[in-house]
Parts: sequence; C-alpha cells; structure tokens
Amino acid sequence: MTAVIGCMIYEHNPWLLAAAVVVCIVSSWGVMRLFSRATTRRNLQKIVWHFLTAILAGSAIWSTHFIALIGFDSGAPFEFDPAFTTISLLVAMVGAACGFVVAASGWFRLAPLVGGAIVGMAVSAMHYAGMIAYRVQGIVSWNEDYVVASIASAILFSAGAFHVAMNREALKHSEALAVALLVLAILTLHLTGMTAFHVEPLLIENRFSNPAALQALGFAVAGVAVLIGCAGLAGYLIDEGVRAESYKELQKMALHDSLTGLPNRRSFNERLDQEIQLAKETGGKVALVGIDLDRFKEINDLRGHAAGDEVLKMLAGRMMGALQENEFVARLGGDEFGAIHRTHVHVDLLDFLNRIEAVLSNLITLDGYEFVPSASIGVAVYPDNAVDKPTLVNNADLAMYRAKSDIARAICFYEPSMDEAVRARRGLANELREAMLHNQLDIHYQVQTSVATGGIVGYEALLRWEHPQRGFIPPSEFIPVAEETGLIIQLGEWVLRTACLNAASWNPPYKVSVNVSAVQFAHVDLRKIIMESLLLSGLPADRLELELTETTIFANKERSLHILRQIKALGVKVALDDFGTGYSSLDTLRSFPFDKIKLDRSFIIEVESSLQAKAIIRAVLALGKSLAIPVLAEGIETEGQLALLRHEGCDEVQGYLLGRPAPLKQIIASGQITSFDSTTAREARIAAPLDDIELLEKIARFA
Ligand code: C2E
Ligand code: MG
Ligand code: MG
Repeated sequence: MTAVIGCMIYEHNPWLLAAAVVVCIVSSWGVMRLFSRATTRRNLQKIVWHFLTAILAGSAIWSTHFIALIGFDSGAPFEFDPAFTTISLLVAMVGAACGFVVAASGWFRLAPLVGGAIVGMAVSAMHYAGMIAYRVQGIVSWNEDYVVASIASAILFSAGAFHVAMNREALKHSEALAVALLVLAILTLHLTGMTAFHVEPLLIENRFSNPAALQALGFAVAGVAVLIGCAGLAGYLIDEGVRAESYKELQKMALHDSLTGLPNRRSFNERLDQEIQLAKETGGKVALVGIDLDRFKEINDLRGHAAGDEVLKMLAGRMMGALQENEFVARLGGDEFGAIHRTHVHVDLLDFLNRIEAVLSNLITLDGYEFVPSASIGVAVYPDNAVDKPTLVNNADLAMYRAKSDIARAICFYEPSMDEAVRARRGLANELREAMLHNQLDIHYQVQTSVATGGIVGYEALLRWEHPQRGFIPPSEFIPVAEETGLIIQLGEWVLRTACLNAASWNPPYKVSVNVSAVQFAHVDLRKIIMESLLLSGLPADRLELELTETTIFANKERSLHILRQIKALGVKVALDDFGTGYSSLDTLRSFPFDKIKLDRSFIIEVESSLQAKAIIRAVLALGKSLAIPVLAEGIETEGQLALLRHEGCDEVQGYLLGRPAPLKQIIASGQITSFDSTTAREARIAAPLDDIELLEKIARFA
C-alpha cells in the first residue's frame, strides 16, 4: 500500500494531489455531518437531508477523483469525454444516495455496513466511469489485481465508515473515525485504481493537453467542490442554529410561565432543591415565601379575565424588578407566587419581604380603573422551621393562610401553633362526622316579621351543634370546616329536608328560609334534593326560600344564573343573604331573579351612630324599591333600630329584638305556631330518596 501510494504520489502533480486530498477530507467530514443529521430526521426532512448529503458526497468523490486525475502524469496527452465525465458524477451522487438510505434505514441489523458498501461501490463505479472518460493517446493496460484491490478497499473502508457513523454512541471519537474511513475509501480507491492503470504513449506531438489550462481547471474544480461543501455546511449550520434556538425556546417554555414570563412551578422546585442543598452544605438558611394575591377573583369577575391577566403581568414585572442577588420569584399558578431568599441575617429577609409587599400594594391603573392590590405573604425558613422541602413548603403555606385570614397582618412567619390550628380543624371535621351520625345537630328557627304590620312572615332555619363535651359550637366555626371537607353536602341536605318537613306542618303556613352554601350550590344534585324535600314533606314550593350569598353566585356567574332559574322554575323563592358584605354589585341584582335582599347585620349595628351606615341602608332600600325586590334587615336588636328602619321604609326585619333563634318546640310552646304533625313521625319519609328525576319534576310541577 505504501509503495502504491508512494509511486502514485510520484506520478501526480503534488499541488493538485494536495488539493484533492484537502477536498476529500473536508467534504468527507461534511458528508458525515449531514448524514448524521439525516439519521435524526423523519419523513420528508430525512429525504431532503439524504438528498443534500448525496449531492455533497457525489461532488466530493467526483472532485477528488477529477482533480487528482488532472494532476496525474501518464506521459501522454489526454482529454475528457464530456458524456462519461457527467455520467461519472451522476453515478457518484445516485449511488451514494442509495447507500445513505440503506445505511440509515434500520431495516436490518447490518444495514449500515451494507449501505456503506453501496457507497463504496458508487465510489468505485464513479472512478472507473471517470477513467472511461479519460481519453489518453497511448495504449492503456490495466492490472486486474490492483483494480480488484481498489474496489475492495473502497467497499471495505466505506462499509466501516457507515458502520461507525451509525454506532456513534458505542464508539469513542466515532465521528473522526468515520470521516477517516471515508477518506481512506476514496483515496485508496483512486490511488490503487491509478496504480492499476498503465499507459504506453503513442503520440509524441502534444496536441490535446495544455498543462497550464488543465491545472487551472483542476483548481477550479477544487474551488467549486469547496463551494458545494460550504453550501452544505451552511445549510447544516443554519439548521443547527434553528435547532438550538427552538431547543432554547422549548426549554424556556418548559421552565417559564407563558403569561407573566416568570419562572414556573417546575423551575421553582428545582431552584428550591438547589438552595436547600447549598444551605445544607454551607450551613446557611433559605426563606421560602408563599405569596397569594388578595381578592384577585374579584378583578377577574368584575373586570374580565383580560384585565386579570394584565394585573398578573404587571405585578410579576414589579416583583422581578424588586429582586436582588440570591432572590428568586416564580408564578406557581393562578394568583399564587413563590419566592426564595437566601438569607444570612434576618434584617435582609425583612428587607426582601418589605420590598415584595411594597410592589404588590402599589396602585394599579388599568383602563382608567384604579385599585390598590394586596397580597398575603407566608414565610418559612430552612432549617429553622423545617428540615426538608415538603415540610418547608407546607409550613410556608400555613403561614400564608394565616396571613390571608388575619386582616391586620399581610406577612406572617410560620409558627408551630399553626400546625395545631390545622390539627384542630381536622379534629373538628371528624367530630362533625360523628355529630351527624349521633344526632347532635339540630335546627333552630329565627322569626322574620313584616315592618308594616308587625306580623310574622317566616322563619330562618339555622343549624346548631351541641357538642357533648365542648358545648355549643357556632356555625361560623363548623360550617367552613364542613365546606372544606365536603360534609356540607350531606349536612345541607339534612337541613333542607328537615326544615321542609317541619314547615309543612306549621299553622299558620309561614315561609321557611334555608341557607345554601357555595359548595352545595355547585353540586349537581341540588335541584333534585330540593324537589325531593318538597315532595316528601308536602311543603308547597312557594313556602320555601333559599338564602344565597353573592360569593356563592360569583364563583361561576353563568352557571349560577342557570341553576337559579331552574330553582325558581320549581316555584321556590331565592333571597340574597348578607347583602353589603360581598361584591354588592348592582349587576348581581339586575341579572339574578331574587325575591328578597337581606341587608347584612353589620350596617344595622352602626345605623344609630353612623350617618354613613344610614346612607347605605337608605340607598339599598331605594335600590330594592326600584327593582321591586323587598328588603329584609338582619340583626335588629333595639327598638331604635326598628323605628329607624320603619321610618326608612324597610319591608321586613329579623333580629334578637323580634326573636332569637330557638328550637321548634320552644316556638310551638310560645304559641307563635302550631304543628299538626310531629317531626319524628314524618322523619321515616326521608329514608328513601327518589331517583326518577323526571317523575319528580312532573309531580313538583303539579303539586
Ligand atoms: P346568616 O344566614 O346571616 O344568619 C343570621 C345569623 O345572624 C345567625 O347566626 C343568627 O343567629 C344571627 N343573628 C340574627 N339576629 C341577630 C341579632 O339581632 N344579633 C346578632 N348578634 N346576631 C343575630 P348563626 O346562627 O350563628 O349563623 C351564622 C351563619 O352561619 C349564618 O348567617 C349562615 O351563613 C350560616 N349558617 C347557619 N346555618 C346554616 C345552614 O344550615 N347551612 C348553611 N350553609 N349555613 C348556615
Ligand atoms: Mg341566612
Ligand atoms: Mg345573613
């Protein structure tokens, strides 16, 4: 082999031979790069990459051969046959394309070797087609052994090159090895093939060759080959750039929140892991800060989701702007954010929290609408409050919930007593379950009277829990627990059935009002339960009034309206409870078919002392009048309050002055009502709920 190469080098123009070798190495590298890109693509993209690779490979092989051939000195004048020269180029391209397709196909285990061998054959076919195009004035003879050796070496080296290229992961420096093997395939073919070629010159007169022109042609081909290579490389680099960019974009999408651009929960978790690890190693501290915007739902409900999004973006931008080194903020979802502060001194942490609180409570102006946002912030510090991530997150949440429920404090630090509060709530839920099973719950009734006549109009059913050890537990304490745990569904159903059953036997036939919580209202079975309660008790639908708060309705306005209409279609009345404490939007009253407005007790408390409260009451009464909805004032405790409301034209009142909530027995004993049927005798009728909803509807309509 060395002898062959040595001999051939001797017979070649060294500059052109060097140019051929350079073209061969550079193009082979390009071919292998493009080929490996083709293997990672699919369908049309794969075909296009194979096509590009074949163009580059074909021109690389062909140029190497052509340049070297021009530089070959056979001692006789020569020329090139244009047809065979072109055919040789096409053979190289088409053959290489077939080889690439097979090599990358994965059709069978040895496909890369077979594909590589096809490429080797294409190189050989190109070389010998090119040699047919080489017309020399002399007697040509071939050494068949060298011919066979040249083809065999091309096939073997090329097969090896593609085997290596397709097993990149398994081999070290595989790319360089594959390129080297392909270079060897092309060069050994040419050099061995040229050793097999012998010319006995016949013509002494140098009629055909012009050495200077041929040399120029050789360099021109080299130049074109390099240009083709560069074009292929440029395509590769552009593709690489696009790939890198899309990868970066995808990575950004995976780690960032698309609305605010802040890091998302995933990056927050990763960062928290890192910070905890760092704190572990250095003995430092990490503060985890849970941030929840206050009344954000209100913005969404009142101003629309686009405005809500805008506010989130604004606040996110503000928080980002307030960050310093070692601080991190992320959007964890909805109106919930999380921040991390690597802390050394407590003062720094306080400074960080103050900065965050300040940016979250600065005035926001949006489409001419101004409001001051606020947030509840909970803080837990590693390792002071927790030594692992889940506990740290849980404790920051607990602190944040405390901040939410504490009107006076926007920032709360975790305290162990918070765990106790949670435990107490869980305990209360279990006890409530027990209470439901063991009949510790009861309903008290509070009278509602007409202001004009002083006569009774109805009673509000209020749930009571007499705990065997702890005594009376107020609804304000256990209703939220029942809502959180879902127990309110069963509880509310029981209240509704029992209240209907009780009221059905009242004489005179006063109305009964039953409170319905947001969780119950959202439950799909509500209408069915109302119908069952009415049918089983025999209470006419217009004697039942359901009390809902604005918060309940606002959770999903459209759906609420739909449910309200369904309830009203049964003939049941609907009252808006605690008016003035929620959103108090005129829109609520205009869009929902309420039968009564219940003005919240908080206004009545101040009515005698505060001009403002009086003005509000007057406005609500005027509103009721204009919408033709009667207004009931809650919490009347004094004669003065009653006189004032009478003077302002209030329709109905309810309060301790007129009667405290009391057990039914006590109300019957007072003579306010008589009951012709005992509750217990009728309770058996609750046992079997009806399932045929259509039948229920029909009966309810004709009842
Ligand atoms: P609410 O529906 O606004 O009921 C009126 C509350 O005001 C009752 O408190 C009643 O005892 C109290 N109240 C009435 N008049 C006066 C007064 O003159 N002065 C004072 N200081 N208070 C007065 P209660 O029974 O503690 O109920 C509190 C809340 O618990 C109710 O407010 C209602 O939202 C809820 N609740 C009660 N029972 C049920 C129920 O069966 N289901 C549901 N979902 N919620 C209920
Ligand atoms: Mg009520
Ligand atoms: Mg109320």
